[in-house]
Amino acid sequence: MQSLYSCLINASTQVSFCSSSLWQGLAPPKVELLVWLAYRDHLCYKGWLSSINVISPSQSGCPFCFDASKSISHLFLHCYHSWRVSNWLFSWRDLKFCLPKTVDAFLNEWNSLCYGNFQRKFWLKLFYAIVSSLWLSRNDIIFNNKEMDTISLCSLILFRVATWMRALDASFPFSGADLLVTTDAIKLGIGGVLRDSFGNIICLFSCFVGIIDSNAVELLAISKALKVSVSKQIFSSISSIIIESDSMNVVS
Ligand SMILES: [Zn+2]
Repeated sequence: MQSLYSCLINASTQVSFCSSSLWQGLAPPKVELLVWLAYRDHLCYKGWLSSINVISPSQSGCPFCFDASKSISHLFLHCYHSWRVSNWLFSWRDLKFCLPKTVDAFLNEWNSLCYGNFQRKFWLKLFYAIVSSLWLSRNDIIFNNKEMDTISLCSLILFRVATWMRALDASFPFSGADLLVTTDAIKLGIGGVLRDSFGNIICLFSCFVGIIDSNAVELLAISKALKVSVSKQIFSSISSIIIESDSMNVVS
């Protein structure tokens, strides 16, 4: 209301409604910094590097679709692959959304989805997760020669939101898998958290498994965790891995 009042009494002043959405501790600090840089259009993306002649114009295309567009709004909003991610997540809650022109306008309009303190935290975390996951996916494509997997990215976004919600409130009752189960597009997914001996998070993982029984899901999750652990270089010097599961059938 204070922002609206300031905007109304001084029409010449551009007041951003999203300022209250930033730096609220709703995501890890590096994610908040990333979203702030995207909001301010200050990210070090290819189009910007091309504009200051660090890379050639021929190298400045979108890493997702290889389009020649150089704007950061294309990367996060208007690229077909980014649009699919946003559209999938909107469809998840039966929403229709017309993407605005810029990232800051996107965040401002996103705030209109938030009602109540809990809903606001969840939806803002979802926004943070979308932006950061698209950026990390972009980095994986450029630096690790990986490919864009829209559906897996959407599931990872939900797992990140669930993890951040639990970090904020341990009583948050849903895991990433719970959020995935509520989707129509994908019936079931698995996921987990890999931690070191100090409890620090090393990475999150998730993937879809279709429609199978709960015991098979638990086993697949453990199998996936072992594969991810073996593939991570950080685990190469570790002689033992502790697996925790809340399934008595799997443990026995
Ligand atoms: Zn693109």
